[in-house]
Amino acid sequence: MRDDSPNADCAYVRRLNQVKILHVIRERKSVSRADISKITGLSPPTVTRVVGELIKPHGLAIEVGEGQPQGGRPPVLIRFNAEQNLVIGIDLGTTHIYGVLSDLNGKVISEIRIPTEVQTGATGVLRRVEIVTKRLAEDSCVDAKRILGIGMAVAGLIDRDRKIVTFSPDFGWKNVEIRCALSHSCDLPIIFDNVTRVMALGELHYGVGKKFRNFVCVNVGHGIGSGIVIDGQVLYGAEGFAGEFGHVILDKDSTIRCMCGNYGCLEALASGRAIGVSAQNALAGGRPSMLREMCHNSLTTVSAEMVAAAAQQGDAVACEVFRQAMEYLGTGIAGLISLLNPQAVVIGGGVSQAGDLFFAGIREQIEKRVMNKHGRRVTILPVTLGVRSAAMGAVSLILNEVLNLNMANCKAHGAS
Ligand SMILES: [Zn+2]
Repeated sequence: MRDDSPNADCAYVRRLNQVKILHVIRERKSVSRADISKITGLSPPTVTRVVGELIKPHGLAIEVGEGQPQGGRPPVLIRFNAEQNLVIGIDLGTTHIYGVLSDLNGKVISEIRIPTEVQTGATGVLRRVEIVTKRLAEDSCVDAKRILGIGMAVAGLIDRDRKIVTFSPDFGWKNVEIRCALSHSCDLPIIFDNVTRVMALGELHYGVGKKFRNFVCVNVGHGIGSGIVIDGQVLYGAEGFAGEFGHVILDKDSTIRCMCGNYGCLEALASGRAIGVSAQNALAGGRPSMLREMCHNSLTTVSAEMVAAAAQQGDAVACEVFRQAMEYLGTGIAGLISLLNPQAVVIGGGVSQAGDLFFAGIREQIEKRVMNKHGRRVTILPVTLGVRSAAMGAVSLILNEVLNLNMANCKAHGAS
């Protein structure tokens, strides 16, 4: 039930002021109470009280010496206490679980990568996630009280209300309760979300977000997904499924079936998996190619990585397969650009590791297919956080809660 009492209004305004001031402190390297008051328009007594609360009990701000005096006493400067507040970020991939322990500035203190062993099912995989979180916390010898929570990036559809992974074809999971499974061994708050949306959030806080407030992050790996950032906010959609770019149908007459059950989805035509299968089919038709040697004549092992390597050496079959995939992908991205008018499209995932071959193919399609002006102004670039993209995004899931003072989702700071 909603609380409409005057006390509830007061608490709400108080929290809004805290969030506002915390954002100002984080955005500036250091700032005096007087300047916070000028920037926010809040009264000096309010600023003094709120800054006091952010210093203790929250532990999210600290005093750091004195600034230049402007007549009278030099002002005490305040800054965001990023170093004392740590987060575990987990990139739960189908081949590897990659975990980082990072401070709130995105500075990585330690990292671990272990095989996922997806065949062990949800229970086995989540037990391995536990191993990673425990090792990160123990091996780095930091005070456990400084760790605010665990963020996690998972491939699949996430029901944010019910806090479950509804469906993940990559893992073969349906309705998996991640938090329940992990909470037996771990009392840290856990927040998880779809991997590509998490990557977009990571880019927003630690990557291209420093420059762009409107961008799309596209992940082209085993599957294809996107995270959409509009005016500095990640788009979720009515049920939290926004950004399923891989399941936009780009060939209505296609006979290639997607993992989702439809035919002609972008993911079925241009993902890493699709590139591998398309090359295998071309080879099965008897065409000569260096891919045969690369896979030691074991056609089913031909991967997108091999196709990219062969294409870079001018192999005709590989060039054709890769080019066709880029044609579909570039066409899809041109559609995103026309629809959303982003400042940038940031692309990550295994297939994008092909570098120039990949990006030149995409840019060519965009030039061809985007309506004139805004297409020319959009920047197409690789994810700035590289292989850490999803793990740092997972860290920013907790940062996001901290900045909005949703402290129920994060532990209070150990200094309290
Ligand atoms: Zn699909």
